[in-house]
Amino acid sequence: TLTLAMSLAFLASLVGEFAGALGASARIFELLVRVPAIPPAGSGGVRLPRFDGHLALQNVAFSYPGRPNAPVLEDFTLTLRPGQVLALIGPSGHGKSTVLHLLQRFYDPTRGRVLLDHTCPLSKVDLRWYRRHIGYVPQDPVLFDGTIHDNIAMGWADDEDDMDAGQDRRSGDAAHRRAASVREVTRDAVIAAAQTANAHEFIMEFPLGYDTPVGERGLALSGGQKQRIALARALVRDPRVLLLDEATSALSSDAEAAVQRGVARASAGRTTVVVGHKLSAFKDADRCAVIVRGRVVELGSHDELMDKARTPYGIYRRLIEKQLVSADQRKSVPVSPRSS
Ligand code: ATP
Repeated sequence: TLTLAMSLAFLASLVGEFAGALGASARIFELLVRVPAIPPAGSGGVRLPRFDGHLALQNVAFSYPGRPNAPVLEDFTLTLRPGQVLALIGPSGHGKSTVLHLLQRFYDPTRGRVLLDHTCPLSKVDLRWYRRHIGYVPQDPVLFDGTIHDNIAMGWADDEDDMDAGQDRRSGDAAHRRAASVREVTRDAVIAAAQTANAHEFIMEFPLGYDTPVGERGLALSGGQKQRIALARALVRDPRVLLLDEATSALSSDAEAAVQRGVARASAGRTTVVVGHKLSAFKDADRCAVIVRGRVVELGSHDELMDKARTPYGIYRRLIEKQLVSADQRKSVPVSPRSS
């Protein structure tokens, strides 16, 4: 028993060190989310000759593996129209980010399906082909040690090589291929993505421009700048579909406006889903969906849903008003001058 207890203590200390070394809990979460519940990519499947970016979740039910008795989505139906922006709003923990996970097929629905361009179930498509059409910005994007160029360019290799890692773990080929494929991304492609993300100008203000080192030991970027770099990373593959899990952290109003300008440019002509926490995300969206306990309970434009206050529902309006109050409270906290 003593040996067992010692082994467990040793194991616990290792886990502790590992977590400490990784630092940000957001990064751990991102890694956890990416543990593939889905067969490795490249294992075949349908590649549509063209993809217009129409996506539909039809009567989807979902619970995370390991928590089968905790349904997250129930009878969830929602259509994403090509080129339009849909914002998701709802109380914390009611399933908004989960919708983004299912749209990337990190998991399959327990019931129901996700359909591409009206005809093709997501479960039948070639994952590598599909994910090349998706740009994803997680809630707390992680920047790695390396230059600004590398941090944007890696958006090209991201998912592909995560998936290859499952197959190539023994050979270690994935890391080499990832590095090689990031090197192939041209400076022009990186600049184009940064311009759309409204990041080019501030990058050019650094003496080394795109060769400026960032990361834990490098230059400290402000929250708003990091978000625009992460947006550029998602855009470098010129995706049909853009999925944004908006950060909850408070930014100064200038920084927020700069990020929002990037999002507006990035979403033009792309099917976009924003898990929104800020009023600007809802006002700029074509439609907003209110998600409560894993279901869509209201759907419409910001103006339509604000009008609904006259009906007995008006959940959207109440959520917006609550967010405005908490945003005002946050803004009364002094913001550092670097935050733009
Ligand atoms: P927030 O606004 O706080 O980001 P959300 O509406 O995006 O919340 P989700 O992140 O989709 O909510 O979470 C829905 C539920 O699923 C929560 O109960 C959460 O704890 C659970 N959950 C989320 N991710 C996982 C996971 N990887 N494994 C198990 N449960 C999870």
